[in-house]
Amino acid sequence: MTVPPGSTIGILGGGQLGRMLAIAAARLGYRTHIYAPGPGGPAADVTARWTHGAYEDETALAAFAAGVDALTFEFENIPTAPLAGLAGLRPPLRALEIAQDRLAEKRFVTGLGGRPAPFAAVDDRAGLDAALAEVGAPAVLKTRRFGYDGKGQARIMAAGEAEAAWAALRGAPSVLEGFIRFDAEFSVLLCRGADGEIRFWDSPRNVHKDGILDSSIVPAGPDLAPAIANGRAGAARIAEALDYVGVLAVEYFALGEAAIFNEMAPRVHNSGHWTIEGAVTSQFENHIRAVCGLPLGSTALIAPRVEMRNLIGTDADGWRDLLADPDARLHLYGKSEARPGRKMGHVTRLLQND
Ligand code: AMP
Repeated sequence: MTVPPGSTIGILGGGQLGRMLAIAAARLGYRTHIYAPGPGGPAADVTARWTHGAYEDETALAAFAAGVDALTFEFENIPTAPLAGLAGLRPPLRALEIAQDRLAEKRFVTGLGGRPAPFAAVDDRAGLDAALAEVGAPAVLKTRRFGYDGKGQARIMAAGEAEAAWAALRGAPSVLEGFIRFDAEFSVLLCRGADGEIRFWDSPRNVHKDGILDSSIVPAGPDLAPAIANGRAGAARIAEALDYVGVLAVEYFALGEAAIFNEMAPRVHNSGHWTIEGAVTSQFENHIRAVCGLPLGSTALIAPRVEMRNLIGTDADGWRDLLADPDARLHLYGKSEARPGRKMGHVTRLLQND
């Protein structure tokens, strides 16, 4: 099924990812219609239509889906049951269901031959002690659902910290994972077309601060090449197994040559923002191409080195200086309030090798 330019693409979610998807869609001559649970958001300024509706409202969702020619999502924490009746969702609903549950995700990846950190399910306080005995400390306790940007996580450096970690997560169903002393973090960014073709972008080396992505740098460097090759193979297996269509991001810890699976995002991803200026075709454009059944564009790098840095909280107040930097390409998401830890924008630099 090809959805030609001029058609309307429905997007569930209206944050910065929706904003950048809508811009990419407009460049190719598409209109976007966003469905989100608020009256506005970063994508509101750049979309032709915006429907304010609850993610649980099956009637409103069905009406929305009936009025668009292609349907995708930019937000992961959408209840999946109300989406079950909507035809043509890309990426497929199963990818969303698996990615929403850290335990299901790790089991799924393990079943495909992937290697997450050692993990154990935790359903109650006694279960945490049992999981600690199995996995060992240091470890990280993470809620199975609704965690993002380091939220819903507590580190347990020694068994004595279990009580505090359990209290911090308020007894939510969780998964305990062994703490990985990784060499580096990287992500695999791929796009799978409706015809099954997979294209990878260069994998960025990602640096997190306080659980939030701080920067992504490509190329990641020769030291990570073996781990990235392994990570790519694993990400391709995930995409094939799900008959996936669209951009898929898989975050990994590099440990020697091993790619230790951290998590997957069935959507465009923050660590791929550099592709807007740094690749021939951005993650946003290729996602639009994939969900519309078009051929994918080249993912080749445009510069020898590309760096993307997030602007978190008040970082974005430095926009004047960033505009004065001839290498810097500034993106601001139009969010009015700069709360700590909130992603307000990002800046990409295309660099020569020094
Ligand atoms: P997450 O939200 O699960 O991606 O975690 C955010 C960040 O916390 C990761 O990118 C890592 O920097 C760190 N982190 C999470 N889990 C682990 C782990 N099992 N071992 C070491 N670091 C971790």
